[in-house]
Amino acid sequence: GKKSPMDVNALVREFANLAFHGMRASKKPIDVALQLDLGKDVGEIPMILEDLSRVIINICSNAFDAMREKLSKPPADEKNGDCPEQAESYQPMLKVSTAKHEGKVIIAFRDNGVGIPDEIRDKIMQPFFTTKKGTEGTGLGLSITHDILKAHGGDLKIESEPGIGTVVQIFFNPPK
Ligand code: ADP
Ligand code: MG
Repeated sequence: GKKSPMDVNALVREFANLAFHGMRASKKPIDVALQLDLGKDVGEIPMILEDLSRVIINICSNAFDAMREKLSKPPADEKNGDCPEQAESYQPMLKVSTAKHEGKVIIAFRDNGVGIPDEIRDKIMQPFFTTKKGTEGTGLGLSITHDILKAHGGDLKIESEPGIGTVVQIFFNPPK
């Protein structure tokens, strides 16, 4: 592939919806609300189309997996004082937003899934590290995503609160 200017908002909308429909058509669909908050004047970034689609689809798939996992946990018994993994009224929600800040394009993916336990926080970027069973995870999604972003002068930041959810932010520097 060759880098060409890509309309960030148009492609985020397209690939987030593609990931969403892929999940809905999968063997284990879940009822997720997808919310897009596309900033004004985000503009274009020089990018290889397949790379941008892979990054967005990888991050969205992880979010869907984390929300599916939370749905599979029994609702917390509040009387026991357990950490509430899943409230009675849990609605899985993925929010994808775009913004431009100091010339940088930022795409953020916020899910309310299971979150990332502190013990594995340092390992999730490693190739082949996965917490998913059998063939459900290759453990390559985040390391490929990271490599793609580095090759485009971009970066990736992950913040997570176990039991609450995860925010994955990707950054693209302005072209020099
Ligand atoms: P895979 O999805 O195949 O397991 P990834 O490299 O995409 O591999 O992710 C590695 C691990 O990071 C996952 O197995 C999961 O434990 C954790 N992870 C990634 N994204 C999220 C997320 N949004 N919420 C919770 N855990 C996540
Ligand atoms: Mg993955």
